[in-house]
Amino acid sequence: MTSLNNLTIHELHELLKNKETTSAEITNNYLKKIKQKDGLLNSYLYVDFAGAAAQAEQTDEYIKKIRNADNSDFPYLTGIPLSIKDIFLMKGKKTTCASKILENFISPYDSTVVKKLKENNFVFLGKTNMDEFAMGSSTENSAFKTTKNPWDIKRVPGGSSGGSAASVSADLCAGSFGTDTGGSIRQPASLCGAVGLKPTYGMVSRYGIIAFSSSLDQAGPIAKDVLDSAILLDAVTGFDGFDQTSRKFKIKKYSDIVKKADNSKIKGLKVGIPKEFLSEGLDNEILSNIQEIKNNLKELGAEIVEISLPDTAYSIAAYYVIATSEASSNLERYDGIRYGLRSAKNSADNDDINNPAGINNLNSGSLTNRTNLEEIYINSRTAGFGSEVKRRIMLGTFALSAGYYDAYYKKAALIRKLIIKNYKDAFGKVDLIIGPTSPTAAFLIGEKANDPLSMYLSDIYTISVNLAYLPAMSIPSGITGKNNPNGAELPIGLQIIAPWCSEDKMLETAKIIEDMVDFRKKYQPDLNF
Ligand code: GLN
Repeated sequence: MTSLNNLTIHELHELLKNKETTSAEITNNYLKKIKQKDGLLNSYLYVDFAGAAAQAEQTDEYIKKIRNADNSDFPYLTGIPLSIKDIFLMKGKKTTCASKILENFISPYDSTVVKKLKENNFVFLGKTNMDEFAMGSSTENSAFKTTKNPWDIKRVPGGSSGGSAASVSADLCAGSFGTDTGGSIRQPASLCGAVGLKPTYGMVSRYGIIAFSSSLDQAGPIAKDVLDSAILLDAVTGFDGFDQTSRKFKIKKYSDIVKKADNSKIKGLKVGIPKEFLSEGLDNEILSNIQEIKNNLKELGAEIVEISLPDTAYSIAAYYVIATSEASSNLERYDGIRYGLRSAKNSADNDDINNPAGINNLNSGSLTNRTNLEEIYINSRTAGFGSEVKRRIMLGTFALSAGYYDAYYKKAALIRKLIIKNYKDAFGKVDLIIGPTSPTAAFLIGEKANDPLSMYLSDIYTISVNLAYLPAMSIPSGITGKNNPNGAELPIGLQIIAPWCSEDKMLETAKIIEDMVDFRKKYQPDLNF
């Protein structure tokens, strides 16, 4: 029998509505399972055991009150336990961004996403692990722990929202929120067999989300199925005056669209497959999975069009100039003065063998015994940032420095324009684009850790979407190892890319493909670890 933990948000909502369970029962089930499994899986950085249990009980009272008043329905997320990537501020709770530099940082206010979730009366389970400052594709860059993939604990869950994807796929929450700068929602969702959605840039407020690359960052859901992803998206969309890049889009109720999706919507739909997405470097099993989906869509009446996104090859280079440049500026604020960690080391006391890095947090590190402000900056940042973050700050600072700006940043910005045009031309011919989310299924922990370039290449299909501000999602579309008894059974993700602000068409099609593949019924990770 399916356990409560394995149910989707919409299934749990039905049970709550029909008085067949309570938020307390659902929440306690998750907390129990987190205690059993997460010691090994490491999907959470922090679990709010007491807070979640208390909040669930309060929500049950609230649900009772609504019922007694007018027996009306309540929002989908009311009483539903979610996990949240540790990049979202939540008032009074720690937000570390998986960095030592923010190890003891307590959020002074709620991010807009969290504020909206609170308005829906969700239950907060805890903060999930991630690559430090969302820089990475495997969650191995966390300063605190390495999250494992629930499908095979020797493998990575993807990144940077790897903790969120693992917590969803291991049934340690009903759903989660992550952020996607170059693929960080879609790629871990793909590697963990979950649904991950990156909305159009500007649709979900970035207020209170720790910034990595402000022109690329966008928050979105990681969910057990397509309807859940729409429910989670519905809860957080909307204009926000606190975010200068928030847009006044015409927002739809995406869960209603998903509920109404049926195969007839595919007839005449023009679906493009970029030839650049099926070339060298793509795993064979993933390639044949895409062909299979393509044939199924054709049978339903879709018109499949081979398209070209000719500048795809430059997207990684352009991304690593733009993202690192913006990061070098965004991360300037971690200077040991205003936030988190401050190194106590200075020229007078750098011989402390018990604390060679001289780490103190802001409350205990006094400023008075220091001789040199620059030393505080240098020593705090040296001790507080991990090597990938340092690499990116150096890259970005270099790209922006006088004399190099035209050669690097300006060129990257021009490539970004070309990529936007590539997509514009493509969407002149087709309604949606499909392709792989990731060139391979989940790779082994440690496999790429010492080879940043090969790690960067794992985002080849996701990065251009952020550069072009577009919405895209990944849904589970099959499994590897089907024809190979010795091969690992790992999820494959299909990416659906839509024109600007066309989440409706994207989600509708995703739902139809989801029904066609029937992934959740056929495949589940073996959680007996
Ligand atoms: N993996 C990419 C990077 O390392 C994307 C990260 C993200 O989307 N946050 O930058």
